[in-house]
Amino acid sequence: MTYYAFDLDNTLGDFTRLEYFLDILDYNKEIYNNFVNECVKRSGLGIFNPKMISILKSTNNKCIIYSNNPCMNKLVFAKDYLEKLLDKKIFYNLLDWNHPLRVNEIVHGDPGNATKSWNVLQKGLFQAFGVLVEPDNVVFFDDLPHRDLIKVLGNNYVQVEEYNNSVAIKDLFECLKSAINTVGSEEANSTGFNVLALERFYTKLNKKINGGKRNSRRKTDGRKTSKKRKDLRKTKKRNKTF
Ligand SMILES: [Mg+2]
Repeated sequence: MTYYAFDLDNTLGDFTRLEYFLDILDYNKEIYNNFVNECVKRSGLGIFNPKMISILKSTNNKCIIYSNNPCMNKLVFAKDYLEKLLDKKIFYNLLDWNHPLRVNEIVHGDPGNATKSWNVLQKGLFQAFGVLVEPDNVVFFDDLPHRDLIKVLGNNYVQVEEYNNSVAIKDLFECLKSAINTVGSEEANSTGFNVLALERFYTKLNKKINGGKRNSRRKTDGRKTSKKRKDLRKTKKRNKTF
């Protein structure tokens, strides 16, 4: 029997923009489930790494996630999405940064940088499947090289190409809007999900995230630069008369 473990960020997918949605969705399970369904319907958004989806299709579904991400809701979202997409139970344990098994690993580390170890992976698989697995029976996928695991797993450590695809806020908001509309505005409002208010919030957020790019374009705009120079000259002239 072979068991599989997957890193989360930049391996299973790119969840950078999801953080602005998943924290809010913690407040309503029904809207959260609808949101997952909406994301699955729009699988072209590219949150998940197509190469990993192909691998998951061919595994025996004895899988866990082992990630340095401290946001458990991202691991849960990945599990829910992939199990919905492939219509089968796949993941039997989720080891995030704060998992109790990792106490010794994270003593000297920062989120995202802790070393992953065979000791924790083996225990994580034991929790999931009740079997003390040997390294020959484990395949691990990660975009980063974790030395301890490479030493133990050898060729069964698969370092994958880093997956980056930052999904647009407006596309994720469309998923959220459909998720809210499915439960009806009355129930959504009663749990604080107001579509108009959320739309204002995400429009502002989108501007904030993309603001840097617009400012840099403005600087290279010749007309505006020369107008600024003219204004500056006028001000200097006025100052001289006093
Ligand atoms: Mg990673």
